[in-house]
Amino acid sequence: MLSLAEPADVVFEIDLKAIQANFRTISALVGPHVKVAAVVKSDAYGLGMVEIARALANAGCDLFFVANLHEALLLRSSRINAAIAVFCDEFARFGQFYRSENLIPLVNNGSEMDAIRATGEPQTYFLNVETGFSRLGLTFDDVRRFYLSGVFGQHPPAVMLSHLACSDCAADATNVLQKNRFRAIYDLLKPTLGSLAASAGVWLDKSYHFNMVRVGSALYGLNNAGIQPNPLQPVVRLRAKVLDIRTVARREAVGYGATFRTARNSRIATAAIGYKHGLPWSCANKISVRLGGYTAPVIGRISMEYIAIDVTDIPETVCGIGAFAEILGEDFAVDELAAAAGANPQEVLTRLGAGCTRQHLNASSPSAPSVGKAPDAGDSHSPFALAV
Ligand SMILES: *Cc1c(COP(=O)(O)O)cnc(C)c1O
Repeated sequence: MLSLAEPADVVFEIDLKAIQANFRTISALVGPHVKVAAVVKSDAYGLGMVEIARALANAGCDLFFVANLHEALLLRSSRINAAIAVFCDEFARFGQFYRSENLIPLVNNGSEMDAIRATGEPQTYFLNVETGFSRLGLTFDDVRRFYLSGVFGQHPPAVMLSHLACSDCAADATNVLQKNRFRAIYDLLKPTLGSLAASAGVWLDKSYHFNMVRVGSALYGLNNAGIQPNPLQPVVRLRAKVLDIRTVARREAVGYGATFRTARNSRIATAAIGYKHGLPWSCANKISVRLGGYTAPVIGRISMEYIAIDVTDIPETVCGIGAFAEILGEDFAVDELAAAAGANPQEVLTRLGAGCTRQHLNASSPSAPSVGKAPDAGDSHSPFALAV
């Protein structure tokens, strides 16, 4: 039935099975002794945190990283029976929520380490250390100071982690520098688990894996390291409805700024997607869409709600009003769209996810075993298997 509340002019599909497959691909690659944690921050890069965490929990993932406490509470209330770690939010102020909802804070600086110490009781936390990113994480001086004061003996971190700046470029010397710095602190603190690599870091050599990798992009099909052949399955498919088709005479302008001018008498289709939906404005005159097995170029600027497609070479039987033009799919991935637009693939993905109505494919039944009641806060202060 047609419903005005559900605009079907843009269809943004997210294949949960493909995300599970990518999780398994990475798990197989790192091997049984390295834990794979899923990064579902920023609403799982725009693709739907709760749906994706459920699918990944069903595939065996038992640790999720979210951006802040708000996301953590949302995920916990969706009854994900797994450990949830919060990249950055005030433990000192909101400690009660961390404890009552069994959430794991990251310690990103000295004052957060003081807050852990001030609890005076066992508190599971992950220690973020700075190795060359200059974003979050204890500096080496902080680490040394806390080490000498004995805090890490009384409050050992469950996981020690750091973040690589250049892991998408295997040859970059920054990788080795960060790994060596990480290794030095790891050997000093001897945490239960160490985690340095995110998605692209998985494809650096095994010495970067330590005991745990934290992957976001790769789960969502982004091949940041450009590995060939691409080991990841495409996750999203994006289609937009053709709203209008008209004949345009030779030498007429198409769209804002008249950046495209017809070289021949043309048939121009208008499809229902624009930068409002997250299609980058900068991909004007640079991408193509697929229509019934044919490829047709997007021409002129991207409008807020529309794109123009030159369908002159496509049979009218294939491209009529109401047909769907495929923008992303098997033949054209987010990586390629981002490259055409001169944009960052993660940015393109999060904007599309936020701008389009999403449809999740291949969700398994909600009664699946690993989706259930959140563990009680009193159960344990080590809510996931730390043994490797
Ligand atoms: C976002 C983020 C990740 C995941 O990065 P991907 O490259 O998308 O896998 C891992 N660790 C930290 C600290 C992050 O901020």
